[in-house]
Amino acid sequence: VSLFFGVDIGGTNVKTAVVSDTGDILYKHSFETLAERGMEDLCRRLKETLVQGLDTIGRSYDEVAGVGVGLPGFLDIENGVIIDLVNLGWSNIPFIPIAEDVLGLKVVMENDANVAALGESWTGAGRGAKSVVCVTVGTGVGGGIVINQRLYRGVNGLAGEIGHLVVDRDGYPCNCGRRGCLETLASATAIIRRARELQQAGELDSSCSITGAEDVFHLAALGHDKAIQVIHEAADWLGYGLALVANTINPDVIVVGGGVSKAGESFLQPVASSFRKYALPLVAETAALRLAQLGNDAGVIGAARLISQRVLA
Ligand SMILES: [Zn+2]
Repeated sequence: VSLFFGVDIGGTNVKTAVVSDTGDILYKHSFETLAERGMEDLCRRLKETLVQGLDTIGRSYDEVAGVGVGLPGFLDIENGVIIDLVNLGWSNIPFIPIAEDVLGLKVVMENDANVAALGESWTGAGRGAKSVVCVTVGTGVGGGIVINQRLYRGVNGLAGEIGHLVVDRDGYPCNCGRRGCLETLASATAIIRRARELQQAGELDSSCSITGAEDVFHLAALGHDKAIQVIHEAADWLGYGLALVANTINPDVIVVGGGVSKAGESFLQPVASSFRKYALPLVAETAALRLAQLGNDAGVIGAARLISQRVLA
C-alpha cells in the first residue's frame, strides 16, 4: 500500500495532504506560502510537513510513493520548469529537479485547475464517471478535462481553458488580452460588475454594498428582481459555454465548482436549464451537471491522483 503527498500551492497558502491509494485524506495541513523566501525554502517546509504528517499517522517516509504538486500558472511540464507564477512572483525555476532533491521523492506538477479537475473526477462529484468536464467559477472561470480518468492536458496544458472561450466577440476586455471571454460574463467578477452597474442606474437597491457575488445571491434570495436577473444572465452564459464544451467532449459528468458554486442549487439550476437550451439534446441528456464536492481538498486529492497515476501506472 502506497501513500501519496498531495500539494496545492497558492499565492497565500500551501495546502498539503497525505493521501491513500483510494483517495482518502489521512493527514492534512496548510501553511503560509511566503513565496519571497524562494522555492527551495518552500520545498524544505514541504518536507518538514510531510515528516510531521507521517509521524502523526504512524507511517514512514519510505511508504510515500511520490509527490504531486498543483501550481497556479504556466508550467513546462516536460522539463519540470515553472515558466511563470504571477501570484508568487516566480519565473523560470527548475522546480522538479530541486523539489526531488530536497524531498528525495518522485515529484510531478500540473496547473492547479487541472489537478482540481482530477481530484473531483477521482473521489468527488465525478467519481466513477468516464469523461468529466470541471469548471471553476470564482474571480475567473477555470476548467479541466478528464477523459477515462486521466487528465487531458493538450499539447501544453491549456486544454480545458473554458474561461477563455470567446463567447461575445465585441465584449468586455479580459485579463488574457482578448475580449468577450466566458469569464468576463460568467464569473463572480462579472456578477459583481453587472450588479453595481444596475445599482448606479438606480435599478437595484443601492443600500446594500456589493463586495462579492454572495451579496448578489443574497439580494436575489430576498426577491430583488434585478439581482435574480444578474444571476440568471451569468448562469445563462455559463450554460452556453458548457454546452460548447459538452458538444465537443460529450462528457457524462460536468462538475461546477469554485466560489460561486457555493450558492448551490440557486446557481446550478439556471445553469442547467441554459445548458439544456444550447447543448445538443442527446449530449445534454447524458451529461449530469453536478456541484463540486471536495471544496478546498480537490487540489491536494487531484495532486495525489496525478502522482499515483505516474508511479503506479
Ligand atoms: Zn480571456
